Amino acid sequence: MKNILTVDVEDWYHICDIEHILPRSLWDRCESRILPNLEKILTLLSRFNVRATFFVLGYVAERTPEAVRMIHGEGHEIASHGYGHLQVYKQTEEEFLKDLLRSKSLLEEMTGERVIGYRAPEWSICKGRRDSYWALDLLAQNGFLYDSSIAPLRFIGIPDAPTLPYTVSTSYGPIREYPPLVIPSYLGNLPIGGGWGLRIFPYWCLHRKILQHNSQGSPGVIFCHPSDFDSDIPRIPLPWIKRFVCYGKIRTTEERMIRLLNDFEFTTVKEVLFG
Ligand SMILES: [Zn+2]
Repeated sequence: MKNILTVDVEDWYHICDIEHILPRSLWDRCESRILPNLEKILTLLSRFNVRATFFVLGYVAERTPEAVRMIHGEGHEIASHGYGHLQVYKQTEEEFLKDLLRSKSLLEEMTGERVIGYRAPEWSICKGRRDSYWALDLLAQNGFLYDSSIAPLRFIGIPDAPTLPYTVSTSYGPIREYPPLVIPSYLGNLPIGGGWGLRIFPYWCLHRKILQHNSQGSPGVIFCHPSDFDSDIPRIPLPWIKRFVCYGKIRTTEERMIRLLNDFEFTTVKEVLFG
């Protein structure tokens, strides 16, 4: 059984809701740290001969086209993380569509291949009662075959959303949804397939959860970011919760990834989708 490995290709300053700390008008002046961190991920994947899906932010593709060339050159799948890293539920349908198509056409022009997958910044197709399911219709209408933006999580998703991959019917045909790996707790589901959860929980919890998914015939979806591999990540004065989410035990990511790559088989979303 092959699991899914995904990377959200964004830089260290692409953090949602920090406009008051680091306005997006300053992004162009921030140091780009994408390439060295991306190289660490690509080297690791090539060591294990694994292909992964890279959800590339359009802004990063435009600022650092070399990143897209490196990923594509190694035979990985390029998918879209939108262009400007703004949560979907904060955009109108028109704004979302413009952001989506800007990233899609940019990536397709650079790779010469069709982009069929999307992941929203911060799993933001839905958050609590703020429903932006319309985004799935727009994705299907514009040639996307899968999405990975609905997290079965309490604070940044839909607490009772399905935890295994499922198909959503839209007005423009079906779209396959791939939720990130979570574990249940008395606080509700907690993320374990990436970010702080991947770094904090004991490895055996993650291992057992993936086996559980696999025994039900489903892949586990793992995610990471280039900055998770950056031990010298520039620290900005974030609120404590974001500080924990972004920087907590950051050095653990690489070690966890190596254990996962040793213990499980991984591939792209596209390969799982088409079998
Ligand atoms: Zn992101």
